[in-house]
Amino acid sequence: MSELALDREIDRSKMKVSDEVAIQITDMNKWYGAFHVLRDINLTVNQGERIVIAGPSGSGKSTLIRCLNALEEHQAGKIVVDGTELSNDLKNIDKIRSEVGMVFQHFNLFPHLTILENCTLAPIWVRKTPKKEAEERAMHFLEKVKIPEQADKYPGQLSGGQQQRVAIARSLCMMPRIMLFDEPTSALDPEMIKEVLDTMIELAEEGMTMLCVTHEMGFARQVANRVIFMDAGQIVEQNEPEEFFNNPQSERTKLFLSQIL
Ligand code: ADP
Ligand code: MG
Repeated sequence: MSELALDREIDRSKMKVSDEVAIQITDMNKWYGAFHVLRDINLTVNQGERIVIAGPSGSGKSTLIRCLNALEEHQAGKIVVDGTELSNDLKNIDKIRSEVGMVFQHFNLFPHLTILENCTLAPIWVRKTPKKEAEERAMHFLEKVKIPEQADKYPGQLSGGQQQRVAIARSLCMMPRIMLFDEPTSALDPEMIKEVLDTMIELAEEGMTMLCVTHEMGFARQVANRVIFMDAGQIVEQNEPEEFFNNPQSERTKLFLSQIL
């Protein structure tokens, strides 16, 4: 796997980590039937952190971040997002989903809706935002991801990179405090990876709290303040990027890095 060079100037001094806790996971365990997929997960994420989650396929990365906005249930332990405990109480789930945006590998846009409608659907129907206000906000975020001119097109008319930027804009329209990314560039051609990473870097520079599952180790090195390595359902190791890459502690991390770098 090649390491994409980010030729953009990245100003990490703008990426401030606050003392305020955004996500607290305590002794969390999850099973799929009899299969113990997440084991004793403990993790505290502060506001403004940019965390990259790395690890081999099947290690539980997607399951972990899907638990953070209740796309998956956990069976033991505690998850608190922005001060709200994630129980199976639907009211809390709605509150948490409104604060946590998620972007997937496959963009999951609604193919029969225009780009603008994709961005206004949830604000109008879930948040009861007036249509005009929702459209103004959607245009603001489409400008931010640099495709306002695509607003009236349908997803199928856009490139993969453009569709992924729409997916990011659509999430931002719900005004989340935390963004989760699950391999947002894995389905993209190389020339489109950079435009999506650029959008993510801008979000980081604005102080967004981000958890990103990604194989883009250039992004991890330059943007993350912490890299978490998962294997077999556990957090095996975590460190600041420089230490993580230059001085991995566990044998499993060393093996993983030797395979990808
Ligand atoms: P990663 O994102 O690190 O590749 P996943 O979180 O997708 O890993 O999956 C972790 C493990 O859980 C894998 O062994 C996978 O096959 C299994 N798994 C994922 N989703 C389900 C599911 N819905 N039901 C049963 N097993 C699942
Ligand atoms: Mg995954």
